[in-house]
Amino acid sequence: MLLVFGPRSTTYDFGPGHPLTPRRFGPAIDLLRALGAEPGLEPRPASDEELRWSHSRRYIDTVKRFSEAPYGWAEAGIGEGGDDPPFAGMHEAAATVAGGSIRAMEAILRGDVEHAFHPGGGLHHAMRDRASGFCIYDDVALAIARARLDGLRVLYLDFDVHHGDGVQAIHWNDPGVMTFSIHESGRYLFPGTGGVGELGVGVAAGTAVNLPLEPLTGERAWLPAVEAIVPELAAAFGPDLVVSQHGADSHAWDPLAHLNMTTTAMGGAARLVDAIAHRHADGRWLATGGGGYDAYRVVPRSWSLVWLAGAHREVPASTPVAWRETWAPEGARYGQTPPPEAFTDPPNAGEPFDGAQDAADERSAAVAGLVRRVAVPRLVREARDRGWWDPLERVHGAVPAGVPAPASGAPAILPAVDAATWSRLTVAPRVVSPADAAGAHAIVAAGLQTASLHVSAAVVGDAVVALAVSLATAASTQGELLALGVAPGWRQRGFAGKVLAAHVDALPEGQEIVAEVTVAERDPFDPIDGHVRRDLARRMLERAGFMATPADTAVRATDPDTVTAVLRR
Ligand SMILES: [Zn+2]
Repeated sequence: MLLVFGPRSTTYDFGPGHPLTPRRFGPAIDLLRALGAEPGLEPRPASDEELRWSHSRRYIDTVKRFSEAPYGWAEAGIGEGGDDPPFAGMHEAAATVAGGSIRAMEAILRGDVEHAFHPGGGLHHAMRDRASGFCIYDDVALAIARARLDGLRVLYLDFDVHHGDGVQAIHWNDPGVMTFSIHESGRYLFPGTGGVGELGVGVAAGTAVNLPLEPLTGERAWLPAVEAIVPELAAAFGPDLVVSQHGADSHAWDPLAHLNMTTTAMGGAARLVDAIAHRHADGRWLATGGGGYDAYRVVPRSWSLVWLAGAHREVPASTPVAWRETWAPEGARYGQTPPPEAFTDPPNAGEPFDGAQDAADERSAAVAGLVRRVAVPRLVREARDRGWWDPLERVHGAVPAGVPAPASGAPAILPAVDAATWSRLTVAPRVVSPADAAGAHAIVAAGLQTASLHVSAAVVGDAVVALAVSLATAASTQGELLALGVAPGWRQRGFAGKVLAAHVDALPEGQEIVAEVTVAERDPFDPIDGHVRRDLARRMLERAGFMATPADTAVRATDPDTVTAVLRR
């Protein structure tokens, strides 16, 4: 894990009294060093050309003007008395944060390191043409932009207590960047955005995922939500690289927000990101810091847990005595004392549960369930819930050596594939979710072994080029369509319709099949416009005999374009 820190890291300083203080580097880098982490990359300013990847020329010029003359009327989010007051040298200081993340990204892209951690980075609120929320230049958006120049698909995971709005906005139209942010609800906290309905638009529909939490939510709801949704999003999206923002301000002791989180859960999330990077992205992972305003008790431990996760090291039993003794007096001056004896916290940060937190945890868990229902493909969810497949485990399902082209002849339509037949077939890439076709093959294989899956396929040689999968148990007359898809190269030739028609014909009489097609049901590598996709899904279902029905109220409120239909045999 390359640690990114240098003398210029502390120049990003809005002045005494500002919550985002470079004082935090003192106790935090000291603790990292005690663990054996030595900075290996000193941030230097990014060039104007690099800043232009994510910011307008006019905005950069405005920052430079304030940098040279730090006074005057507020402009572009920069002004006295606001979140982003001007200071002398602010352009160079902010460009240095950006440079640290960009250079760290380049070290990963070159293959010099698998993982890098830039604790001074994570300025996720900065927008294309304005400063916001202590953030001048968006180093995370810029690092992602750098990876996109090399054509890599990026999964961005934002654990800060505030919505990662700048990164989401800057990459909003790019289907090659999926952003996920878990944060305190914008109804109660800056920046006010990050609702469940912010899902992306056009070809990027489905590539923004937001999980807003009730105030008082703690690790009991936070970590299970992350563990439920993030590995599934990764499996569905198939990233080449992971960028994460580890703001420590969700902690129970943080003075700016209202969640009840622990360093334990933060460390758990960091370990999950590490596992996802290794599973899906050949280990390519850039981690950054972010918010965190308890500079002595929380930030040093949070950053240490991120570094330990990336270094694949166990968490030591206790923080060093010398570290605690060194920083206790300074922490006391700011009312942030004593430095804790352990890296992880006791359950719920040592605070008793009360009815208000119980209610908050419960409501947040319900929102997490809704977000998962809308943002994760149905087959992926069902496979995990039923124990058919683990998104963090590499599977070795059958994938064809090469996908046959349509010119090679008409596929055979198999209306009802059984387990024995399936074991002889391979699945072409990107027929159905997950992104990894071996995973899709393994899921259907396990489903055919353990449950009444109804599977229909279009097959060329032994390669499945179109597939329909339903859960249709003999014991129940209630079934669900789990997936329907066609391989690239075979699309727009009517095969989805043919396979679905055969699928429906082979269902037992009296069976009812429900289809709920949300924004998650798409090819993440070559997506078509979200509305076009919904119209296609609706027409295809209706042609196969499905009748449109109103979507579940909560689902419709989140993803208004969801297509829901039911078929009765
Ligand atoms: Zn790792």
